[in-house]
Formats: sequence, C-alpha cells, structure tokens
Amino acid sequence: MIHITFPDGAVREYQEGTSSLDIAKSISEGLARKVLAAEVDGQVVDATRPLDKDAQIKFLTWDDKSGKSTFWHSSAHLMAEALESVFPGVKLGIGPAIETGFYYDIDLDGRSITEEDLKRIEDKMRELSKSNSEYQRREIGKDDAIAYFTEKNDPYKLELLRDLQDGQITFYTQGGFTDLCRGPHIPHTGFIKAVKLMNIAGAYWRGNEKNKMLTRIYGVTYPSQKELDQYLTLLEEAKKRDHRKLGKELELFAFSEKVGSGLPLWLPKGAMLRERLQQFLQKAQLASGYLPVVTPHIGSKQLYITSGHWEKYGKDSFRPITTPQEGEEFMLKPMNCPHHCEIYKTQPRSYKDLPLRLAEFGTVYRYEQSGELHGLTRVRGFTQDDAHLFCRPDQVKDEFKKVIDLVLYVFRSLDFHEFTAQVSLRDQVDRSKYIGSEDNWHIAEQAIIEAASEKGLKTVIEYGEAAFYGPKLDFMVRDALGRSWQLGTIQVDYNLPERFELEYVDSDNTRKRPVMIHRAPFGSMERFIAVLLEHCAGNLPLWLAPVQVKVLPISDKFGEYAEAVAVALRNADIRAEVDDRNEKIGKKIRDTELMKVPYMLVVGEKEMTNRQVAVRKHGEGDKGVEGLEEFINNITAAIKEQIGGKPATVVA
Ligand SMILES: [Zn+2]
Ligand SMILES: [Zn+2]
Repeated sequence: MIHITFPDGAVREYQEGTSSLDIAKSISEGLARKVLAAEVDGQVVDATRPLDKDAQIKFLTWDDKSGKSTFWHSSAHLMAEALESVFPGVKLGIGPAIETGFYYDIDLDGRSITEEDLKRIEDKMRELSKSNSEYQRREIGKDDAIAYFTEKNDPYKLELLRDLQDGQITFYTQGGFTDLCRGPHIPHTGFIKAVKLMNIAGAYWRGNEKNKMLTRIYGVTYPSQKELDQYLTLLEEAKKRDHRKLGKELELFAFSEKVGSGLPLWLPKGAMLRERLQQFLQKAQLASGYLPVVTPHIGSKQLYITSGHWEKYGKDSFRPITTPQEGEEFMLKPMNCPHHCEIYKTQPRSYKDLPLRLAEFGTVYRYEQSGELHGLTRVRGFTQDDAHLFCRPDQVKDEFKKVIDLVLYVFRSLDFHEFTAQVSLRDQVDRSKYIGSEDNWHIAEQAIIEAASEKGLKTVIEYGEAAFYGPKLDFMVRDALGRSWQLGTIQVDYNLPERFELEYVDSDNTRKRPVMIHRAPFGSMERFIAVLLEHCAGNLPLWLAPVQVKVLPISDKFGEYAEAVAVALRNADIRAEVDDRNEKIGKKIRDTELMKVPYMLVVGEKEMTNRQVAVRKHGEGDKGVEGLEEFINNITAAIKEQIGGKPATVVA
C-alpha cells in the first residue's frame, strides 16, 4: 500500500500502482471527469501514470494553469494527427502549448495552407477527438526511436532525438499518431470538445534564420463549445477596445517615427483628457495635505550614483548627456524620487514637520528595447502621478490608510469596481537580502496589514515578494473584460533615506531617519489611460470626456445660436464644441456618435426661438427637448455625481 497526501493535508491509503485518475474516481466520478493531469510531489505528470510510492498529489483541472497547458499541448498532438491525415507525408517540428492555446510547426514542402485547409484540419480534429483515444506513454530506447522516425522520414524529430540521452526518451501515442514527447498529456482526446485554428505564420526551425522556414499553425481548444465561443467573443471585444485603435479614432494620441518610437504625442483631445485626470487627482491630493513640487527632466549622474540607480540600472538606461564646455554628465530622469529627496534636504526637518508629502506629475524616461514597445503601455517617456511621503515610523499606518482612501476614490470615480490588493512582505526564512532594521520592517509590515484590514480591503499576503528596500501594497484591478491590471502601488523605502542621509530631529532631540513612501494611484498617465480606454471601450465617463457636448445646428441658419449655446456651456465649465460643417444633420449625428461624445444638442428653428436644445445621449438616442439652462443644470449635477461615484466593491 502507498500513502497519498492531498492538498488539504488528508492522507489516504491506496494500492501501489494506482493512478491519480483512479484516485479521483474513488472520490467522485464528477471529479474524475475534470482531471486533466496531476501534480505528484510538485511535478506535473499524466493523471494515468501509476503511482509506485508515497506521494503528495494535487489534481489539475481546467482551472489550473498547468491543467490548461497540458490540455493545449495534447491538442497540438491531436492537430498533428489530423495533419497527417489531411496532408500525408507532412513533416513535424515542435508543438508546444502557449499562453492562449498551442501551435505546431510543420513542413509541407512548399505547399501553402489556405483558410479552407484550416477548416478541414479543424473538422478532422473534431472527428478524431470523438474516438476518446487515450494518450499512451511509452519509454523507448534511442536506437528504436531513431529507427521509427527514419522509417517515417521526419528529419526534424531525428534532429531533436540527436540531443536526447538514451533512457530518457518517451513516445506518446493517441489513435494512429505517435510523437516524440516528454509529456504530460490529458487522459484521452475526448476532453477536447471545441476547436478553433486561429492563424498561420512562418517560423524558422529552432528559431534560427539559417534554418528552413516552417509553417506555424496556431490553434486554441476548449472543453466546451460555449467556453470557446466566450473566448472568441472576448478576443473580438478586446480587438475593438485596443487602446491604440481607440487612440487614433478618438484623436487622443499619436506616434511619429521622426519624433522617435515609444514617445507618445498627446493630441488636443488626449491632452485635455490627461489634464482633466491630473486636475482631479491634484485636487484630491491638495485636500489630503500633499504639497506640489516641480523638478527638471534631467539630473546629474552623481545624483543617480548616490541613489544607487546608476549602479543598478545605468547600463540599461539612456546614455548620459554631457555639457560641451565643462564635461558635466546628466541623466534623463528615470524616476523622481532622488530629486524629491534633495527637496527634503533643503531645510532642517523636525518630528513636527512630518509627514511631508511631496507630489509631482513628473515625466521620466526609461530605455525599453524597440521590440518591447507597445502603444501607451510600454513607452520610453511617461508621466508618473508621483508623490513621496516622508514620515516617522509611527506614522506609516496612518499614511497608508490615507493613500488607500485616495486610491479607492480614484477607482470609484473611474468605474473600476472590482479589484484585489496584494501585500508584499519579506521572505519568512531568508532575510539576508533586505536592508533596514528588523524593528522598522516589523512596524511597517504590521502597519500595512492593519491599514488594509481597517480600510476593509480583502488582501492576499505574499511572502518574499517585498523589494529589498521595503514592503508594499499593490492594487490589481479587473477591467470590463475580466482582465487584470496592476494599478496603484504604495511602496515603503528604507534605502533612499539612508543613501541621501535624510534626517529629522525627534522629540528627544536625537537625529533620526524618516521613512519614505512612494505612491502612484495611476502608476503613469500613459498606462492608466490605456487601461481606462480599454475598460470603458472609449466611452469615457462624462466628467472626463475631452468634448462633453457637441452642438449640432441643423443648418447654417442656426450657426449663431449654436455658437451661443456652446458659449453658455463653456461659461458653466462644460467642454463644448459646435459642428458647423455644411453637412446633413444625420451625418453630424453619426460622426459625433463615432467620436463617443456623451451629449449632442441638436438646434433648429424651434430651439432657437425658445432658447431650448434637443438632447441626444451617446448610445441612447433622443432624450427630448430641454431649456438650455435646465440642460446646463442637469449635466453639471451629473458630472458632480460621477466624481467619487458609487462605492467600490472589493473581491478576494
Ligand atoms: Zn506531447
Ligand atoms: Zn519614488
């Protein structure tokens, strides 16, 4: 008999040679139908593998990352089987699982693959999956393996075999198809109920451009058609919401090769959006005791030698700038913290002066490889909604609570209603890599945990995830498509106060180091706007929309009245424009809809005579005629209500 330990600590006895799948069956048939693979003593293996000794096991299902990847890798084998049937003589390269599905690299001797072919392969896969063929593992000697693929005339598998040791080679067979593979695999093909081959691409054999170009077929499979359909819909929706596409359509930002890649240009509407966000946060920060500061875009190299950034990141930064005469060296500012430390030092500080909260929308420049750049989410120049809080150790908890309030206020106002918070603490065992005193770490870690719990956040605690210089709290936000984004970090720092020798005079007249807290609710304006655009699909909340109201005169005759309406709106702090083009009203409405402007005011004879406006709401249509003053009052009230908005909910 062998002893099997389950994740909840329970131990049960089984006959030697029992498989994980048998064990699942002994628990319930329902469970057995979901088991894709098993983690045995930390290693992912076939659920059908016999267990020959005491072990800890965990069943892997579709809900586990390695369950999914086993499913998708097994689907690659199924696709290969289908390919051999559709294209006899096809030569196979490799077929791994990837983050969202799988691919197989194949050699069709120059024949290209059409959409029609993909359909045929999909159909064949569906047909083969119905036979519920088991994925059978077999250990095989190197000579026999070579003989098999020589007979099959597959040069790629033979090349892979050359690098393998005898005694470590395994074959997997399902139905009529055998592949050289380490595994693991799902129990049988019947699990694969829904198939979609996504696209094809060229790929050099083993990623080397000196080798032959193979055809890569990407696919994705699901345990049910419903789940596959949901995934495909999500993909379509994500494409429509891509912030790069929306940025262009809504005229928010652009990139120019001449200016340089990774350097966004904010167009008037985008700049308006950004400014509105900044004003919103700045107002909240002023109310919370933050003091605005402004620092230059460059700093002397010495500053970054002091901060430690030069040593750590210097090699991967933009090269220093030098002065022509003095030979001084400057760095493009990669972060604002060192500048703020120097501001702290401009005056002697006493315990009564703390906390000192310095805030700046500071633009920083970080080198990213050109291949890594992506829209607004990976750029080379961006603006952080940065602030540094310098406080006494006994103030850390209160400061955290205030920042949590601010972050929640931001989320609420921007319609992010689902988020999680993660507290990153030291490794519980190895504490050698952390700087700062044991006392201070303990105080700060406790303070973060208590602050989060007193603010009602449900948090996940991750040990070993703290930076070497301090613990932190991160917010992960779930967007409208269910994707997670990390926004809003609050980070304690014991390192920079030490390096910059920051001090305050305590109540007992001794000199002490302040604690520094970095925090940025948005993270960066660029990334935040990207996430926001994808979350709301470009339908920005009324209070943020670059143009809140578009006035549409039905003909030239009413141009003057339309202008008067816009002026009245602007006088009430509402961002309004007039569409004075010589176009039909239907076209004006359609174009304004496409620009996702929240309100349209159509004006003609009747409206002009009665000082009225015919209101249309974006996506909703006609809302009837209102007096101009009435409309202004209503929209002003609606804007006020949105900021601060509904209470945010917290999910675990
Ligand atoms: Zn395999
Ligand atoms: Zn900082």
